[in-house]
Amino acid sequence: MRRLQSFGKTELKAVRRARAEAEALVGEFYVLAPREWERMTYEVRTLDELAPEEISDQAFAQVLCYDFMRRIGSTIVDRRDLYRICLQDHRILQAINGSRPAAPRADHLALEPFLLYLLTHELIHIVRFTQRLQHLDLAPALRPQEEMSVEQTTRHVLAPMADRALRRVLEACAIG
Ligand SMILES: [Zn+2]
Repeated sequence: MRRLQSFGKTELKAVRRARAEAEALVGEFYVLAPREWERMTYEVRTLDELAPEEISDQAFAQVLCYDFMRRIGSTIVDRRDLYRICLQDHRILQAINGSRPAAPRADHLALEPFLLYLLTHELIHIVRFTQRLQHLDLAPALRPQEEMSVEQTTRHVLAPMADRALRRVLEACAIG
C-alpha cells in the first residue's frame, strides 16, 4: 500500500490555529449564537485519523455527515448529525510544496492561509447544512451552483483578512 504523506507536529499546530480563526470568522459572519454553535456538531480530522473511504485524491478537504447517537441503556438521549471535515494532508502538502520543488518560494502557497481558506469553506458548508440552506442530498445538477455560493461566501468572509499570502491562496484556488 502506498504511504501518503501526512501532517507532522508543526502542520497540526497550524491546523488548530486555522480552525480557531475560521470558526471566529464564520461565527461572526453568520452571527451564530452559542446555542447554534452547540447544535453544529463537527470535528476536524487529518489524514492519519481518516478511514480509508474518507480519503480522497480529488479534493483538499471534504465534509462527511454521520449520524451521531448517544444512548443511556436502550434509550436514545441525543441524536443529531455529526459533520466531519476530512483534511487531505497529502493533497494539501502537494499543493504547498508545488510540483517543482526547485520553484522559487514565492510560487508556493503558505500552509496556514491555505488551511484557513479550506476550513472556512468547509465550515460554511456545515452552517448551511445545519441551517437547512443546503441539503445533504442535493441533486448533482445543483451542486456546482451551491459550491459557487459557498465559495463566494468564503471569499467574502476572508476578504478583510487577505494579506499577501492569503490573496495568493485565493488566486490559486479561484474556480473557473
Ligand atoms: Zn465545497
